[in-house]
Amino acid sequence: MYGVGSIQFKVLFYAMNNRVYLDWNATTPLRREAREAMVAALDVCGNPSSVHAEGRAVRMLVERVRHAIADAIGGQAQQVIFTSGGTEANVLALQPGLRGPSGTPVERLLVSAIEHASVLEGGQFPAAQVDTIRVTASGVLDLDHLRTLIIGQPPALVSVMLANNESGALQPVRDVAAMVHEAGGLLHVDAVQAFGKIKFYINELEADLLSISAHKVGGPKGVGALILSDRVANFHAPIRGGGQEKGRRAGTENVSGIAGFGAAVTASTATQEADTARMKSLRDRLEAGLRAATPNAIIFSADVPRLPNTTLFTVPGLRAETAVIGFDLEGVAVSSGSACSSGKVQPSHVLTAMGLGPDLARGGIRVSLGWSTTDLDVDRFIQTWRKLSGALLKKDDETVLERF
Ligand code: PLP
Repeated sequence: MYGVGSIQFKVLFYAMNNRVYLDWNATTPLRREAREAMVAALDVCGNPSSVHAEGRAVRMLVERVRHAIADAIGGQAQQVIFTSGGTEANVLALQPGLRGPSGTPVERLLVSAIEHASVLEGGQFPAAQVDTIRVTASGVLDLDHLRTLIIGQPPALVSVMLANNESGALQPVRDVAAMVHEAGGLLHVDAVQAFGKIKFYINELEADLLSISAHKVGGPKGVGALILSDRVANFHAPIRGGGQEKGRRAGTENVSGIAGFGAAVTASTATQEADTARMKSLRDRLEAGLRAATPNAIIFSADVPRLPNTTLFTVPGLRAETAVIGFDLEGVAVSSGSACSSGKVQPSHVLTAMGLGPDLARGGIRVSLGWSTTDLDVDRFIQTWRKLSGALLKKDDETVLERF
């Protein structure tokens, strides 16, 4: 019934290759429901902008997904703008000249120091108009610093993520919203990592703009959405052309991607509560194993509310890039918080913003779980860490890589 590329094949692949995937914050496996919806959509010929029956059939599909996404976050369908992913949603959101209820256009952008690179780059704002909001040692936005940046200043667009992709730390978005709105500004929330892992509603967050991405919830890569609340006026489309998405983002819609996105969101919403509880208990067991093996392990943001699936840790002296390779050679996929650029490992900007020095900020390992993570996966992680940690903390890189 199923061929190569099916979910069964993948399960077999992972079993045969003895791999354990613990990098769900980077991307998630495609859900069966998403694949089926995508394949079905690929066989529907119409262009959603065409008026004939074929076009109307595809339009109906796209609009059904728009409603499903709006329902999942408590918004309205006409507020959903489909994009090529979280990055594009962020860049689209961060534009000078937006007006909120105060009527004054925002000409300044404030971003927290731990945002995703697509936000830190400032979207469409010139660099001189972008300021950074500090975070605490626990990786949570410093509300006092935000206050000093907005009080007595012209209204700003403020961008704060709901959950950090490295540490999982949840951000005080509602407090930020109250402060920003009182000062006449607007709030953009990058909810790419939170979506599907914790329940939230756009109105409860009081977000004016909100970004999500399909591949973090079991949908395909390369599709996402910006939710634009009715409080926002003067939105302008940087990508112009055919007038799609009500003139807010031109280009023929990625119909199969959107179909997969919708199916993934529906599947994720149906089991989210149970998945969250299960992931949290697995994550807690993983952290207990980590601490038992290496009592000096530091688990970042463990003292604040976090995503249920994420652990970011280090041990003094650990080199993240060597550890990630060591885990990989043992069949366990995890990631390092630090970024590699021009062959040099850079300290994680998140850990640096939390006040850590370059050595610790280069040593963060992120382990992120998902809906199909099992007890056995966690056991494998703990066993591998027990095996690797002694060598990683004692030997130089070459010796470690020779051994594993
Ligand atoms: N925002 C956050 C917090 C992310 O973690 C990511 C991706 O990892 C993005 C935005 C970008 O999303 P996409 O990969 O869909 O462009």
